[in-house]
Amino acid sequence: MGKPIRRKKIFQVTDDIRTGQERILETTDECDSLSKAGSIDTVGRVKKFFMDCGCDGPPGGRCHEDGCGAIVCQTCFGHCAGCQKPLCLEHSWFVESPDRGRIRLCRHCRDKLVRKERWGKIARFLLSPFVRFEE
Ligand SMILES: [Zn+2]
Ligand SMILES: [Zn+2]
Ligand SMILES: [Zn+2]
Repeated sequence: MGKPIRRKKIFQVTDDIRTGQERILETTDECDSLSKAGSIDTVGRVKKFFMDCGCDGPPGGRCHEDGCGAIVCQTCFGHCAGCQKPLCLEHSWFVESPDRGRIRLCRHCRDKLVRKERWGKIARFLLSPFVRFEE
C-alpha cells in the first residue's frame, strides 16, 4: 500500500437511555492511499460493538439489577412488572399469570411473589413452574 493521503474515522453512537451517556455502536475506519499505479485506493474497516446481551439490535436500556449494568437491546430489555426496575434478560424471571399473561419480574419481586403465594389462596399458581426465558 502506498502513502496514505486521507484517513476517515466515523463513530456511530447512541445515547444510553438510562445514563444519558454516549455509547459507541459502530466505528468505521477508512484510509485512502495513493498506489504506485497512480490510483487512489480506499481501504475500510467497520467494527461493530454488540450489546452486552450479544445482539446487535438497537439498545433498549441498562439493567439495574445489583452488579449488572448490562446494556441490552430492545428485545432483551424490559421492566419488572412489580417495581419497574429495568432488567436485562439474564436478570428477568418470567411468570405466567392467569390474567396478565407472561409478566417479567426482577429476582426480588419474584421472591416476594413466591413467599406471598406460599400462604395465599392462589397457591396453585406456584405449581406452574417459573420459566427462565431462553432465546
Ligand atoms: Zn439482546
Ligand atoms: Zn421488581
Ligand atoms: Zn442484568
